[in-house]
This record gives sequence, C-alpha cells and structure tokens, in this order.
Amino acid sequence: MAEKFIKPMAVTQASLPPIEEFVAELKIIWENHWLTNQGVLHEKFRTQLKQFFRADQVTLCVNGHLALDIAIKALKLTGEVITTPFTFVSTTHAVVMNNLTPVFCDIKLDDYTIDEEKIEGLITPETSAILAVHVYGNPCNVEKLEKIAQRHNLKLIFDAAHVFGVEYKGRPISDYGDISMFSFHATKVFNSIEGGALVYRDAALETSLNNFKNFGITGPEDIVAIGLNAKMNEFQAAMGICNLPRLPQEIASRKKIVEIYRDRLARVPGIRVIAEKSTLVPNYAYFPILVDEKIYGKTRNELFNQLKTFNVHSRKYFYPLIPDCECYAEKYGNVDLPVGRYVAQRILTLPLYGEMMLLEAQNICNIIADFFQKNTNESLESSC
Ligand SMILES: *Cc1c(COP(=O)(O)O)cnc(C)c1O
Repeated sequence: MAEKFIKPMAVTQASLPPIEEFVAELKIIWENHWLTNQGVLHEKFRTQLKQFFRADQVTLCVNGHLALDIAIKALKLTGEVITTPFTFVSTTHAVVMNNLTPVFCDIKLDDYTIDEEKIEGLITPETSAILAVHVYGNPCNVEKLEKIAQRHNLKLIFDAAHVFGVEYKGRPISDYGDISMFSFHATKVFNSIEGGALVYRDAALETSLNNFKNFGITGPEDIVAIGLNAKMNEFQAAMGICNLPRLPQEIASRKKIVEIYRDRLARVPGIRVIAEKSTLVPNYAYFPILVDEKIYGKTRNELFNQLKTFNVHSRKYFYPLIPDCECYAEKYGNVDLPVGRYVAQRILTLPLYGEMMLLEAQNICNIIADFFQKNTNESLESSC
C-alpha cells in the first residue's frame, strides 16, 4: 500500500506568491530607492496588519526572535519569568539573554500548552512575568492566564509564532495578554521571508519598542536610548504584502490535508492527535502526532526512521525539551517536568503545507498504518 516518495517530502514548504506579484512590489522599492527604515511598503504592510489583527498597536521587526527580545526589554521585566519548557529555543533564549531566570512550568497532555494549574505554585517575590507559547496553532488557556497575571500583578507575554490568523471565541488571539509576538519566518503559515510583529495594548510602549529596534535614534542628532537594530526592511514587507491576501487559501488547503490526517490516523492504534476545539478559528500551522509506543508497538524514533526510508522527513518538534538541551541541561536538567518529557520523547510533526497533495498525505498515513500492522504481525508470529 505505502509507496516510497520519489522526491523527498519535507516537513514544510514556504508559501510563495506568483513571482510577477513580488516583482510589482519590488518596482516600488526601485522607484523610491528606499530599502529599509520605515519605507512605504513597511507602512503599507503595518496598516494591513493592524486591520488583520483588529489592533491599534502593531510594531514590525526583522524577525520574531528580536521582536520577543525587545518586548521583554520594553516591559522592563526583572528576576524570574515563568515559561514553558515545550517550545522552540527562541523563547527561552530571549529570557536568558535578558539576564532573567526562566522558571519552567510543566505542560498539559491534551494540547501541550503551559499547565495553568501549576503556575501559581511557582510564583515567588522575584516573578515579573508569564511567558506562554501557543503551540502548533493551539492557544493556551488565555482566560485563566489573564486572571493569574492580574491577581499577581505579572506581565503576560505570548509567544504567538504559531498562531497567525487564529481566533479564539471570536477574537483575534492577539487580543489576549499584554503583548503577543508573531513570527513571519519562511517556515510559518504566513511569511515575509523572515519577519516578526508585536501586537500590544499599551500605546505607551510604542516609543520604547521603536527605540529598542532602531538604536534609540529619534532624529539626526538625537540618540535618546540604548537599542538594537531589529527593523523590518522593504523586501520583507513586499513579501508580506504579497502573501497576506493568500493566507485564506493557504489555510483552506492545509485544512484538507489535516482532515485526511485526522480521519486516517484516528484508525491507527497508539497514534494520538490533538482534539479539535469549537471555540477556535484554526490556522493548521502544524500536524503533530504523539506516538504511544505501548499501543503502537514502535517508538517515535522508529517511526521517524521508517518515514525517512520512504523519503518522508518528519520532525521531532519540539525535542529535546528545552531544559534538556545541551546549553541548559547543567542548570535546568533536574527540573521535574514529567508531562513535558513524556511528550518530547513521543512527539512527531508530519509534513503540512498548502501545496501538499492529498495523495501525499494519504500515502504518509499508509506508511504509519502499515508500520503498526507490520509490528502486530511480527509479534503474532513470534508468539506462535
Ligand atoms: C519561529 C519561532 C520563533 C522565532 O521566530 P523567528 O522569526 O524565526 O525569529 C519563536 N518561537 C516559536 C515558538 C517559533 O516557532
């Protein structure tokens, strides 16, 4: 049933507009002879994003990581930040590179987001913020997190790199918390080659964010603050402008792939997927499966290798768990995070992108299903 792919199947493929559309935007750059520093495309893209997020405050950045970095700086965080161990390293690096201490809170088994029930036990007089991550397109329990943050006077930051386009209970996901960071990296649902944005509530943060992203320069002879260079350039904005109207189509195409995965994999014992939620407008950013080796009969690593022999390149995303990464293990490797470690050992992200074909998804499901059957046949034979 399952067939080997002739061309390697990557876990994702960046969405690109028709080249003519991009060239039309490039012509504007050539006409203006203006490549970066708040150009016309930057401003156009920012206006479009304000409408998209239904928000007044949007700041564009060269990438998501530096957006998160300047958000932490502008909010003047100190001491300890309660965060999730189940994320891309960017989240934790941003905390640590600002001389803050990450305090890891375990995650939930149903959607892999931070376990809001375990947060209050970790709050100390040193805690200044909660930095939570909406993983794979699934929002955290935003209502409970807002309550906890309010009760303890903490800032609430969301790493929203995975949730561009997601709505929760009829509101854009960026409506929740003090500030949300979005990434427009090539591998995300929506890209501006590289890029990022901050969406936030407090208009008073704007000056500070602008200073942090442009050397603290406010005029030819005015350097009013110490800052980085984290500006989005015109080429990035051009790509963002071309890709934004294509987002609904990208999400609709991904939805069809996800429907196949959900339908076919539901019949494979030991392969678990995250349940659909009716409160959500999803973006189908990733399709993670959890391999329960006790039922499936093979481990996540064995399935990963099996897929590879069929030319399918899935990803162990997120693995290792952040506290177990080489650069953090000495300090945080002993932190007790049973759910996070259980999931990191078993999670596998399958290929998913708009231009993927339905037959390709079906074939991937066949590979996964066959591997289970092979296993049961073998164990039947060996028990004879
Ligand atoms: C992609 C990503 C980032 C970093 O964004 P860049 O734009 O690549 O800098 C941060 N956090 C998470 C969860 C991500 O997936």
